Amino acid sequence: MLIRTWGFVATKPHSPWVSVEVRAERGALVRTSGLPPGAAQESMARLRSALAHVGFRPPTQSLTLHLHPNCTKEDVPHLDLAFAAALLTLAGRLQAQDLLHTAFVGTLTLSGHLHDPRLGHATGLLCRGAVPHPEIQRLIHAPGGDSLLPDNHSLEQSWEISDLLQLMSSTPSWQNLNASPSPNPVKAAAHPQDLHWEEIQGEGHAKTWLAIAAKHRLPVLMSGPPGCGKTSLAKMCVGLRAQRLQMSNVPWLAPHPAGGVAGLLGAWRRGAPQPGAWAQADGGVLFLDEFLEWPRPARESLRHVMETDRLELHRAEGSAVWMSKPWIVAATNPCACGRGNEQCLCTPAEQKLHRRKCSAPLLERFAVQLDVGHDPWPCPKSWNEVFKWLSRPFPIKGIPWKSHARDSWMNSDIRREASRRVRASTERLAEAHADWRGENKVTREDVGAAVDVTWMTREGW
Ligand SMILES: [Zn+2]
Repeated sequence: MLIRTWGFVATKPHSPWVSVEVRAERGALVRTSGLPPGAAQESMARLRSALAHVGFRPPTQSLTLHLHPNCTKEDVPHLDLAFAAALLTLAGRLQAQDLLHTAFVGTLTLSGHLHDPRLGHATGLLCRGAVPHPEIQRLIHAPGGDSLLPDNHSLEQSWEISDLLQLMSSTPSWQNLNASPSPNPVKAAAHPQDLHWEEIQGEGHAKTWLAIAAKHRLPVLMSGPPGCGKTSLAKMCVGLRAQRLQMSNVPWLAPHPAGGVAGLLGAWRRGAPQPGAWAQADGGVLFLDEFLEWPRPARESLRHVMETDRLELHRAEGSAVWMSKPWIVAATNPCACGRGNEQCLCTPAEQKLHRRKCSAPLLERFAVQLDVGHDPWPCPKSWNEVFKWLSRPFPIKGIPWKSHARDSWMNSDIRREASRRVRASTERLAEAHADWRGENKVTREDVGAAVDVTWMTREGW
C-alpha cells in the first residue's frame, strides 16, 4: 500500500512544503529516501509513544519513507504528524485519498498532542508566507500553525486540531470540512455516550457528583454491591468528560486488576517503555473496577501520580517519564461478601479487613466518595442542562462563602478531625456544589453536601 501526503517543515525556508510518501510491505524494516535513516528511526520512536497515548499500536510492517525535497535530521520532527496520519491510514483509521491533498502543519509531543511549529524556534528562522504546493487543498494544523501561511493563500479548508485523537475521531467529517478558519469538528456529531445520562435511572446523587467531579477532574471512588450499575455510571463519565473538554470522544481505559503494576503504570518490553493504562487514558477516563482487588503496590503508587500527573518508571532496562491527565474513577464492593448493608454476611473483623486494604492517604485522594446502587431519585438536571453547565467555566477565584456557612464549617467537629488534605478538598467541593446549583455564594447546604461525599474518610475505611 502506498500513501502520499504533505508536510510543512518550518525549518526549510526555501521549500517548506514536503511531499511525504510511505509504502508498507510485509516485513519489519524501515527504509528511507530523502532523509537520514537515524532520523527516521527517531521519528518512529516518537510516534510509537504518541500513538500509544491514544490507545493505538502502530502497524508492524516494513516501511519505505520517501521525502521530497530532501530533509535533514532537524527537519524531520516537523513531519511526525504527516507520518502519524500515514500510519493511521495503514491501519484503516483514515482514508488514503483524503491524505493525498492534505498538508499537516505542527509538531507532535510524545503524548500525541500537537504543538505550534513555531515553538522552540526563533521566529526569524522560520519561513512565513510560503505559498502551498498547488496539489495541496486542505490544511490540518496545530493551534497557531496556520499563522505560517501567507495571507493570500488559496486553501479552502483549514482545520485546527489539538491532538491525534481529534484527527482519528473525525474521519467521516473530512469530506465535509467547511471553509471557516477553524471549525470545531467536535460538536457536529451526537455521541453515543451522551445517551447514558438519560439511560441511567435514579442515582441522582451519584449523577450530580459525577458531573461535578467531571468538571474539576476530581478522583471518584464508588462503593456499591455487584451489579448495582457502577460500571454504567463509569461509562457515563466518558460523555461527561468529553463534554467538559469539548471533544467528540475521550479515551476510556478499564484495565483489569490482574494486569498489576505493569498494566496500570507501564513496563519495559523488548527494550522499549510500554505505557500503562494510566498514561494511555490521558485526557479521558481511567476506570479502576474492583479497586481493592488491585495489588497494593499498584494502588499505592497511584498516590503520587494522582498528585503530579507525572509518572517516572525506573527499571533495570532504563527510565521513562510520562505525563498524563486522566480522570480516575474507581469502584469497589462495600465489603468482602459484596452484599453490603442489610444482607451483609461478613463479620465485623472481615469488614474491617476489607476496608483496611485502602490506606488512609490513598483514600483521602479520592475527593468524591459515592455510595451507589440504591438511590431512586433522579438527577435534578437533564443532560441538556448538564451539557451547558459543563461548558461554562468555573470562576477563577472560586466562589465566596456566606458568613454563616463559613462560621459553622470553621467550628465543626468534622473539620477539626479531618486532615489538611480532606479539609481543603471539602471546601473545594462545597464551592463546586454551589456552582452546580447556580448559586454565587456557598451556603450550609453546599458544605453539608460536600461533607456527605467524604464519608469513607470518616466511617472506618
Ligand atoms: Zn459483606
